[in-house]
Amino acid sequence: MKVAVFSAKRYDRELLAAANANAGHELIFFDDLLEISTVALTVGCGAVCVFVNDRVDAPVLAALAAGGTRLVALRCTGFNNVDLKAAAAHGIKVVRVTEYSPYSVAEHAVALILALSRKIHRAYNRTRDGNFELDGLLGADLHGRTVGVIGTGKIGRVFSRIMSGFGCRLIGYDKIPNPDFEASGGRYVQLSELAARSDIVSLHCPLTPETYHLVDADALALAKPGAILINTSRGGLVDTEAVIAALKSGQLGALGIDVYEQETELFFQDLSSTIIPDDLIQRLVSFPNVIVTGHQAFFTREAIGTICATTISSISAYAEGRPLEHEVHAVV
Ligand code: NAD
Repeated sequence: MKVAVFSAKRYDRELLAAANANAGHELIFFDDLLEISTVALTVGCGAVCVFVNDRVDAPVLAALAAGGTRLVALRCTGFNNVDLKAAAAHGIKVVRVTEYSPYSVAEHAVALILALSRKIHRAYNRTRDGNFELDGLLGADLHGRTVGVIGTGKIGRVFSRIMSGFGCRLIGYDKIPNPDFEASGGRYVQLSELAARSDIVSLHCPLTPETYHLVDADALALAKPGAILINTSRGGLVDTEAVIAALKSGQLGALGIDVYEQETELFFQDLSSTIIPDDLIQRLVSFPNVIVTGHQAFFTREAIGTICATTISSISAYAEGRPLEHEVHAVV
């Protein structure tokens, strides 16, 4: 099958090509995002393969359908960037990678917590400059802290087990409670109680219309003063302006984010020699108690290997008319 692969970095090209060695699909790689201005590149391709920031909206899906594309294969778990109803209306199937090392993202969330609570990012810069002063680096034990987990799915539960190992108390909030969370010592509470009691809040739910700006000014006002907020899920879960205000007032003690609402214009690119026009991200990176990583939580050898293998196997299943194990359906 002829497949147009968008947002293709060097590692995507190498690892997808390796996973495709026996499958024999014709992979055509593009650096560009899939969006309305690039969709013409897909004409004649039965499938497109996209990542988190490609814009697979209704106009793009209409153009894909007109050009003969019948499959959208996401190289990620989240599918908030695809208009599923428009895809269904055009007879285009959508597949994703339902599971790939939940450890990769959970461990990254923990890395952000450890770095922020022990100020590792500041110590790293100081010691490189010959400054071995401790003043300003006072941390806090994780042992005995209360950790609020929003979304106790695959990643949230791995995260919870790790935090439980540090001796943290776990409280959780999920639309669909999972007994495994309770089995590892967690207790489900309402969102308002989670906000009020947590020393650390970590977001592990998907971005949906319901969860958009879940963390807004009202939620932050309920939070325990000085709490740490971690978002490795999707940028749209957090109202960035409200978070900046809470950091400025001290209501929020620290912030670790791997995702950012306006990341499409920034992430996965080297902009170090340009003037970045986004004032919000510039303000965020200026805080000493904020760490921003550029959507790298998934980026482990194990996770990428599974992503590429699952993606190629879904494309093969579609090409051979077999059932699509990882299909995403529109909710009607
Ligand atoms: P999952 O489907 O296993 O778990 C998601 C959980 O969120 C489920 O338990 C679900 O019931 C819950 N949920 C759904 N709507 C909710 C709501 N309104 N309120 C509270 N909980 C709700 O997914 P997962 O594999 O654990 O992934 C979680 C998220 O992590 C993904 O949606 C994706 O956005 C993000 N992610 C980020 C990266 C990264 O590199 N930063 C990589 C993979 C996934």
